[in-house]
Amino acid sequence: MSESTDEHTAGDFSARFWGVRGSIPCPGPDYVRYGGNTSCLEMRCGENLLIFDGGTGLRELGEALAGQGPLDADMYFTHTHIDHINGVPFFKPIFDEANRLTISSGHLDGGHTIREVLDTLMAPPIFPVPIEVFGAKVEFGDFACGATLTPRPGITLRTARLQHPNEATGYRVEYGGKSICYVTDTEHRPGTPDANILGLIEGADIFIYDATYTDDEFPDYKGWGHSTWQEGMRLADQAGVGTYVIFHHDPSHKDDFMDAVAEEAERARPGTLVAREGMVLTP
Ligand SMILES: [Zn+2]
Ligand SMILES: [Zn+2]
Repeated sequence: MSESTDEHTAGDFSARFWGVRGSIPCPGPDYVRYGGNTSCLEMRCGENLLIFDGGTGLRELGEALAGQGPLDADMYFTHTHIDHINGVPFFKPIFDEANRLTISSGHLDGGHTIREVLDTLMAPPIFPVPIEVFGAKVEFGDFACGATLTPRPGITLRTARLQHPNEATGYRVEYGGKSICYVTDTEHRPGTPDANILGLIEGADIFIYDATYTDDEFPDYKGWGHSTWQEGMRLADQAGVGTYVIFHHDPSHKDDFMDAVAEEAERARPGTLVAREGMVLTP
């Protein structure tokens, strides 16, 4: 069978948010409209399923995938801080022998492998069963951040190094002539736009960014590895991005706070979105 780029149309390209929260899951009545699960993004490129990060949102994605037939998916991590991996042991499809998964990351720089990190997470006395209980055929892979990957026909994945303790990788997914960028977790230097990020997101249709804080809050959190919604907007403007999406909400930012951010962001850059669980975007 031959593949031509004509078969890969932008109409089949989408992103769905399963977890939008940073740092720690936030259940409860103050987190209903935006959601309390930590980072997890489902991308569909035609028949192909890409999963970005395995925060607690991954559990619910697993429930949604159950019963959809054998799964053959690719999973990428921005990095392996706990809020981005704590859904993995609760992702049902990984225990099903009918499924195939690749699991990759680009931030470990040869010091560890992604397999070792998940091994550490799933080991007593932190977790009762090891990754050997995964029933699915899982292939682990580590790449050098900055590499361009082509996981499936018609899909190009560009990557770039972010500014985060223990490193993190930003992704640009290109499919059918459109692009979605997923850029979290990262800290900016005020007044100096991050050239790596500008290069990655240049002209992108959708740009999802670590907007944990506001510019007013930021001075209290220097060195914590996160950015602000205003910095994301400056990057979006400078790089000529289509839709800018505020993501990785701080646990202290309850629904009313996020409503206010959404209003202010809409005034500053019409069309700006605040990520919510269940939100689906099509470039
Ligand atoms: Zn995070
Ligand atoms: Zn992090």
